[in-house]
Amino acid sequence: MKITDIDAFQVRWAPDDTPLQRSAFVIIRTDDGLTGIGEASPMQGGVASLGVISHDLAPMLIGQDPLDHAVILDRAMHALIKLGPEGALTGALAALDIAMWDLKGKATALPIYKLIGGAWNTALPFYASIGGNGERSPDQVIRIVEERLKDQPAAIKIRFDNKRTSLDTDLAGDIEKARAVRRLVGDGFPLAFDANNCYTVGGAIRVGRALEELGYWWFEEPVQHYHVRAMGEVARALDITVSAGEQTYTLPALNDLISAGVRMVQPDIVKMGGITGLLRCAALTHAHGVELVPHQTQPTIGHTANLHIVASLLQNAKPVEWNDPSSRTHPIFENPPVPIGGVFHLPRDPGLGLRVNETELKNRRH
Ligand code: CA
Repeated sequence: MKITDIDAFQVRWAPDDTPLQRSAFVIIRTDDGLTGIGEASPMQGGVASLGVISHDLAPMLIGQDPLDHAVILDRAMHALIKLGPEGALTGALAALDIAMWDLKGKATALPIYKLIGGAWNTALPFYASIGGNGERSPDQVIRIVEERLKDQPAAIKIRFDNKRTSLDTDLAGDIEKARAVRRLVGDGFPLAFDANNCYTVGGAIRVGRALEELGYWWFEEPVQHYHVRAMGEVARALDITVSAGEQTYTLPALNDLISAGVRMVQPDIVKMGGITGLLRCAALTHAHGVELVPHQTQPTIGHTANLHIVASLLQNAKPVEWNDPSSRTHPIFENPPVPIGGVFHLPRDPGLGLRVNETELKNRRH
C-alpha cells in the first residue's frame, strides 16, 4: 500500500464561523483505494498545522507505505525539528498518525483498539468539561453545571479560562465557585477544578487546600505550564492530585513533568503523536505509576481516537473528557460519538470506526 494523496483542510461547523473556530482535518488516500482521516490540534483553527502538512510533510510521505507510520513520522519530525517541535508540527504529525492508524484498521478490517491490544472496557464513562467559569458569577456557574448534569456525566470539571497574563486575580471568588458547585452536586459526586495556569505557586496552594476540604478529585494546571518545577512544587505540597500535560508535546517533556512530581498527566492525542504517541505516553506513565487521563476537546475524530486509547489503558479508572459539543454539530459523520446513558460506546467498525458523509464533507471543507 502506498500513499498517493494527502489532503489537509479546515471544516466549517457554522455558516458564520471564523477561520479560528474551524476544525483541522487531514485525509490520506492510497493506491488501493482506501482513505484514512485524522485531525490536528485546533489551536487558531489548526491553520499552522495544515500548512506544515501541505508544504512540508506531504512531499515526504507521498509514495510511502502508511503501515510504516511510526518510522515515517519520527523521521519527518527530526527532519523538521528546527521548525520547533512543539505545537504546530506535533499537531500536524498527530493528524497524520491518526489517519494512518485509520488506514491500518481499514486495511486489516479491524478497529484500532483491537490493533493496539484490546479494550478493557467498550463502554466508557465521561466527565463533563465546562469552560469559561472565570467570568461567570457563582449562580451562573451553578446553572451551567445543572445543564450539563443532564447528560449523566461520571464527573464534572469546572474550568476557569482566565487570561494567562493575570495571576491570582480572585482567589476567594474562585474558591466560592468551587464551594457552590460542591453544594449543588452533594458530597459524593466527583469534581475537578481546572485553573488553566492562572495562579502563582502560593495562590495555587491556597486554592488547592480549599479544594481538598471540598473533596475535589483533581486540581488541573494550577500554574503556568512552562514552569515545570513550579507545577511539581504545587503537586508535592498538596494532598489533592495535581494534573498537567495538555500543553506538553513530546515524550521527554512529559517525563520532565513526571520527574517534577506531577502524578496525573494529560497529553492530547491531536497535539502530540496521535495514537502512536499516546501509546508511548501510556508506557511511560505505567512505568512511573502515574495516572494518564488524556486531554481532549474535539468532538469527532479527536474524541474517537482518544476512546480507542483510553479503552486500552490498564489504569483506565478516570472517565474521558467531553466538552460541550453543541457549537460544533457532527453532520459530516454518520455515526458521531454521542454519550448514551452516561457512556460512550467504542466503535467496532474498522479503523477509527467513523463513517464520513461525503456530501456534507464537500460542503463544509474550506
Ligand atoms: Ca485543561
